[in-house]
Amino acid sequence: MPRAIKEAYRKGTRSPDGRPGPKYWQNRGRYNIAISALPPDRIVRGSEQITYFNNSPDTLNNPVFKLFVNIHKPGAPRAFGATPDYLTSGVQFDSVTVNGVTVPWQVGPRTFTSQRFRLPTPLLPHDSVRLSFKWHYQISLSSNREGMIDSTTWFLAYFYPRVAVFDDYNGWDTTDFTDLQEFYSDFNDYDVSITVPANYVVWGTGHFMNPSQVLQPTALERYNRSLTADQTINVASLAELRSKSVTAQSVTNTWRFHADNVPDVTFALSNHYVWDAASVVVDPATNRRASVQAAYNDTAADFRHMVRFAQHGLDWLSRNWPGVPYPYEKTTVVEGFAGMEYPMMVNDESYADTVFSRFVVEHEIAHTWFPFYMGINETRYAMMDEGWATAFEYLIGTADVGREAADDAFKQFRVSGWINDPSPMEDVPIITPADGLLAPYGNNAYGKPALGYLALKEMLGDAEFRRGLHGFMDRWHGKHPIPWDMFNSFNDITGRNLNWFWNSWYFSNNYIDLGVGSVTKSADGYSVVINNIGGMPAPVDLQLGFTDGSNSVVHETAGIWAGDIRRATVSVPTSKTIQSLKLEGGIWMDADTTNNRWARAAR
Ligand SMILES: [Zn+2]
Repeated sequence: MPRAIKEAYRKGTRSPDGRPGPKYWQNRGRYNIAISALPPDRIVRGSEQITYFNNSPDTLNNPVFKLFVNIHKPGAPRAFGATPDYLTSGVQFDSVTVNGVTVPWQVGPRTFTSQRFRLPTPLLPHDSVRLSFKWHYQISLSSNREGMIDSTTWFLAYFYPRVAVFDDYNGWDTTDFTDLQEFYSDFNDYDVSITVPANYVVWGTGHFMNPSQVLQPTALERYNRSLTADQTINVASLAELRSKSVTAQSVTNTWRFHADNVPDVTFALSNHYVWDAASVVVDPATNRRASVQAAYNDTAADFRHMVRFAQHGLDWLSRNWPGVPYPYEKTTVVEGFAGMEYPMMVNDESYADTVFSRFVVEHEIAHTWFPFYMGINETRYAMMDEGWATAFEYLIGTADVGREAADDAFKQFRVSGWINDPSPMEDVPIITPADGLLAPYGNNAYGKPALGYLALKEMLGDAEFRRGLHGFMDRWHGKHPIPWDMFNSFNDITGRNLNWFWNSWYFSNNYIDLGVGSVTKSADGYSVVINNIGGMPAPVDLQLGFTDGSNSVVHETAGIWAGDIRRATVSVPTSKTIQSLKLEGGIWMDADTTNNRWARAAR
């Protein structure tokens, strides 16, 4: 446990049983944002008022601000190279006030996406500060997580200056956004208005406040009907957008959205994207529905099914795994290039293979719970963001396409890149702060932690695993849990000391390699010794062939490694004679299968 985390337990902000401590606190903000985006002018102009509440016991002198779109500035630190189309001059401040008093923005020559700002007077504990910013930036021609999808379709994400997270175990989050790692955000309230040219539609996070002001009657009627409809309704077609019969015909329209207690807001705007919508019951107990929308190019054949795919995702994930009702009132899937999640928004590519389109959108929707509902520090603990989304992606995939196809896809996308790469970079412990990773980021964030969660589910059984997962989620949703809160909660709720499991999966350089030690005759069958060469507590199938030509499979969960992480003895009760034995890990792929087989010696 790092010293700063030990200190959080000592201070009582976190509790050793896995709950938030008696002294737990977190800060929050109220954001009032007005944006204007008037293509073909590429300048996005914004004005915002932030009321930031300091709930911490600390006096804050130098808050950190996140200016994510500064990643487009020449010289910004990046995980990847930048093409000329990617570069812009970044965020330009037109005015800054603190508690109503104009102050200059303080820019260091070598600071980009994360910048400190000295307040004229310190922000005392349990006090608040009012900040206002007027800023503008040029939207990037090349689009990934944000930017121009095409000249008249823009994806606005990370577009507003925000106060970085200040927390109890790390202080200010000063990490730079390099386009590899993801985000860490407080739960804030947002009022956002977006002014666009008359014929543009805006989709985004939060409750759509003024549909009757910006939509013409037919589109309005369809939109309203979609909020309780099961079947997909086309709210606006390309032809209707071209004939200017969708949006109110003034020079510009201002679209308004409101969301409380969300970690971020994101918007898309277009003058030609097709708009589909329906809804789905996400909470069977109350019959609460969520709106499901899609926005896409008329040419994207897979997106014609996207509302249905997303309805299925919301439904299945709400009822099965994680099995917590979808916590928002809507989601919108926008065709772009990102494969990226945002609260109530998804930005996904169009694919020729609709099965893959569904797979990707299910993964992005799964992120609603981890990281958004759970307030994960994605930048540092990607294992709790991508790791959980990848585990849920596998579980819903199993329901969609069957175990065999889901296993094949999971092995190919999520496991083989790790297990078949013996580089020391690939076996760094999963707990390693992800903001320090480059090469091993992907496997440490996605496949490896997901394999651990899925091994845990199998070992505990669904009912016990659900109790642990839901208990942890109940304790921490809307807060900022760290891996130790999750491990301790599972231990506490299940009443088991699972530290041997956590240690091997998340805190070690272990990998998966099991080998047959010995096969010996016992009183009622056989005793099989399995060596755990790689040290990871993985489940395993013993595929048995008998001398009479019959076969059988004995499955063992990761529980066989609870007593001794290096060696397990498995009893195989049988009256038959074993001819051959093979260890098969399934999705828990084995790094070295040459030691997985045993055969009776020929006589
Ligand atoms: Zn993801």
